[in-house]
Amino acid sequence: MANACLITEIQRFAINDGPGFRTNVFLKGCPLKCVWCHNPETIDAKAQVFWKKRLCVQCGACMEACPTEAIQPPIDPVLAQSEGVDYYKIDLDRCNHSMQCAAVCPYGALEITGKLLTVKEILDEVESDLPFYKNSGGGMTLSGGEPTAHPDFAEKLLAGAKARGLHTCLDTNGYCSWDILQRLLKYIDIVLFDLKHTDPEKHKQWTGVDNALIMKNLARLTQTGVETWVRIPVIPGFNDSIEDHQAAVEFLNGLPGKIHRVDLLPYHNWCQDKYGWLGLDWPLGRVEAMEPSLLEIPKEYYEMSGLKTTIGGSGFEDAN
Ligand code: SF4
Ligand code: SF4
Repeated sequence: MANACLITEIQRFAINDGPGFRTNVFLKGCPLKCVWCHNPETIDAKAQVFWKKRLCVQCGACMEACPTEAIQPPIDPVLAQSEGVDYYKIDLDRCNHSMQCAAVCPYGALEITGKLLTVKEILDEVESDLPFYKNSGGGMTLSGGEPTAHPDFAEKLLAGAKARGLHTCLDTNGYCSWDILQRLLKYIDIVLFDLKHTDPEKHKQWTGVDNALIMKNLARLTQTGVETWVRIPVIPGFNDSIEDHQAAVEFLNGLPGKIHRVDLLPYHNWCQDKYGWLGLDWPLGRVEAMEPSLLEIPKEYYEMSGLKTTIGGSGFEDAN
């Protein structure tokens, strides 16, 4: 249904996703599977269950309610309780997303991620912060997941935002047909375009897809004249070497049109809980969060090549 989409979060007062104060709308569903993804619940396009085990009192109500028997009891409940290990297990392969378990859990240990919201419902909420946008140059940022994976809905939402006089940003990984991007551009003030790696092999290894389409789309985007901020999530062991930055700078300076700024986004691991809630392992278990100051030297390097650059992508920071 193009008039509604599963949304994982509407995040108000965001300051790192476009200019000023912004409301970020996170759509569910993404064609990439980045190893470091900070929002793993946005990858699957279907609604999912967050299982917050710390809140679980092991009452078993969810198991009774599950129509597909996806929730199984422990082999030895007494041992499980005495040793404090996990009690009930959710077999995600058997889950049919009926969410009946979450509906009956009396302790809020099961939470649905992915709420079906209409264009109007979203815009009414976004518009409630209008005074803050006016004073700060902010507005709505459409994010995810990947908004272009829902082209009809994204177009309606962006067009609706424009009709209400809102400033709009599209936060995209660029992995979509050019036709889709072009359709959306009519309603976008700034594109926040992710560049993860210039090397196709490494890109595929860490995100699941080749980067040829992404790089081609970025090149075409710069020819349209739309304001474009390139965002590079800097991930230890993936794209944080001098050679990686050199390759990115070379690619960006070789684009046919203008890049308005580059945001170097330091890796963090604040999303670990979410992986646990989804029953997944955090793939970068031992990798420590990156000190933003470590990006000062790469930032200087980008700037020396003529690219306005920030660390962290603040919408209030003067990138000059
Ligand atoms: S219903 Fe909630 S509290 Fe009870 S076992 Fe299931 S998750 Fe735990
Ligand atoms: S493109 Fe973004 S949302 Fe999609 S998997 Fe990568 S980091 Fe996650």
